[in-house]
Amino acid sequence: MKRIKTTAIVLAAGQGKRMNSTVQKQYLLIKNKPVLYYSLKCFEESMVDDIVLVTGEAEIDFCQKQIVEKYGFSKIRMVTAGGKERYHSVACGLLAIKWECDFVFIHDGARPFVDCDMIERAFLTVQKTSACVVGMPVKDTIKLADQNGYVESTPNRSLVWQIQTPQVFEKNLITAAYEKLIATEESLKADNIVITDDAMVVEHFMNVPIKLVEGSYKNIKITTPEDLKTAENLLDS
Ligand code: C5P
Repeated sequence: MKRIKTTAIVLAAGQGKRMNSTVQKQYLLIKNKPVLYYSLKCFEESMVDDIVLVTGEAEIDFCQKQIVEKYGFSKIRMVTAGGKERYHSVACGLLAIKWECDFVFIHDGARPFVDCDMIERAFLTVQKTSACVVGMPVKDTIKLADQNGYVESTPNRSLVWQIQTPQVFEKNLITAAYEKLIATEESLKADNIVITDDAMVVEHFMNVPIKLVEGSYKNIKITTPEDLKTAENLLDS
């Protein structure tokens, strides 16, 4: 039987404006290693076959030398430039996959606490469903607000999940979804639709159910300076 081939796209082309730092958040250090190192190390040690690292155009050389070579990541087949928005960077990552690939894992390089168990859970699920995303049920009550900052409604908490990455899809499905997104980007903008994750692209353009898979409450995205402190504490624990 043919072996299933998988590629992880690790995103590190964001500017990280909410971090208030001159260094982009994915290159800030946690315990002497860049934030980005931790997720790459996890994918390197996982069942994933290949990795595409998406960075800013100006950081490609730095990443080759200071990340890929320095830490000896052998699965990174390509370091490629991303785009203005996260979804542009994902589209660039998908275009870079020129090798055999059945399923694509899309992961935020700013989430250092992805682990092999959640990667395995997502891999088992996506083979049955074609599309799945890692996340966790929310602990707090969630309110939807109106434009003026008043409560509009309260969704049933037992049905609300906070969504993380990796998000995993059949390669042909996610490629087709992103082609449709890029072709209709301007009309989405006109309708005030802001694409913030990959599942949204599949929800919007493809008629395919997306299964939720258990991630972990540790799988935080480093966004603000407090998150760096939390990350250090999580590494200690
Ligand atoms: O901006 P946000 O926190 O949603 O970014 C999530 C991930 O997407 C980060 O790892 C960031 O580096 C990446 N990203 C990207 N290209 C962009 C914007 C964000 O690769 N244009």
